[in-house]
Amino acid sequence: MRMTAVHETNLLIVGAGPAGIAAAVMADSLGMRSTLIEAGQVGGKLHHIGALENMPGNWQTGPALADALAADIARITQSARCRLLRGCAVRVDGHDHHVEVGLDDGQVLTAAAAVVATGVTTLAPQHTDWVTVPEGLWAPPLWRACPEDLHGVTYVIGADRPLGTWLRAHPHVQRTLNVLCPPEDDYKAAEVATDDRVRLLPVSRVVVMEARHSQGGWEIRAESRSGEQTAYVASTVLNNLGNRPSALKGLVQGSDGYCPPDQQHPRVLIAGDLRSARFQRIITAQGSGAQAALARYYGTALVTA
Ligand SMILES: Cc1cc2nc3c(=O)[nH]c(=O)nc-3n(C[C@H](O)[C@H](O)[C@H](O)COP(=O)(O)OP(=O)(O)OC[C@H]3O[C@@H](n4cnc5c(N)ncnc54)[C@H](O)[C@@H]3O)c2cc1C
Repeated sequence: MRMTAVHETNLLIVGAGPAGIAAAVMADSLGMRSTLIEAGQVGGKLHHIGALENMPGNWQTGPALADALAADIARITQSARCRLLRGCAVRVDGHDHHVEVGLDDGQVLTAAAAVVATGVTTLAPQHTDWVTVPEGLWAPPLWRACPEDLHGVTYVIGADRPLGTWLRAHPHVQRTLNVLCPPEDDYKAAEVATDDRVRLLPVSRVVVMEARHSQGGWEIRAESRSGEQTAYVASTVLNNLGNRPSALKGLVQGSDGYCPPDQQHPRVLIAGDLRSARFQRIITAQGSGAQAALARYYGTALVTA
């Protein structure tokens, strides 16, 4: 069944994180009409970063920056050129003369080009080869956890960088985080090794199961790097495995799941974290979003420059 187009604009921008917002602001400044599609909160991941690093402008926290960027979107949506659409995109298709973005409610939006800036999403244990968890176990991500979410003995699966962010965001919280660290996270674990709230447990494999005693909680069976088995009991288990790209159907993905900008349809531009695991910073997300809008304005040469 062919679905009908319900909206036309110069540029469709999927994702209102730092990358998508920068694309929208740049498009507006160039006089282009854009539709910014956001499934969650305007500001994206910023809402969950308790302590910011690497950001010019002396921004201390993600929510403060997110509020400022949301104000930019509120300002430009008052000009009739930018429209904010609440919805979840499921696919993007480039054609000779236009692009189509399909939403999960069946709408299909069309435009001359699209910027896809959907970022990354939390990697679940099921997506790794070193963690086994019972079906249905939802280990909440560390980077969203408040200190009051940590009950009793806390184990963290994986030593990805949100660990350092969490420790910096909560400098006065005196809780021990028992961090199960696979070899591939060793270099990130080294960045927090001097924090005495972190107890690093180098492992090669981990199996999490419900504890058999009546108080509930979890039993964790860990295999050390030398093959020794150790059992731990945890009241709280948090996921800190890292991320995987939130790619839409229709995009070209590399072997790691990311979407290289230079391999897409010429009318489909990729910005922000979705490009590569190597460029996941707010300022590069903003730069790539602004560049994507400029690339569309001047032709596609800037995309591969
Ligand atoms: C804990 C933590 C700490 C960090 N600390 C720093 C730091 O100190 N300094 C730094 O530079 N970077 C930091 N980062 C990285 C930074 O947050 C990212 O690089 C940045 O947010 C990427 O911006 P983005 O716009 O590409 O993606 P995101 O911020 O992830 O935004 C993507 C947006 O797309 C939306 N979206 C996703 N899928 C769809 C869909 N299908 N349809 C519609 N909308 C969709 C999402 O809801 C979201 O709003 C940190 C990240 C984390 C998790």
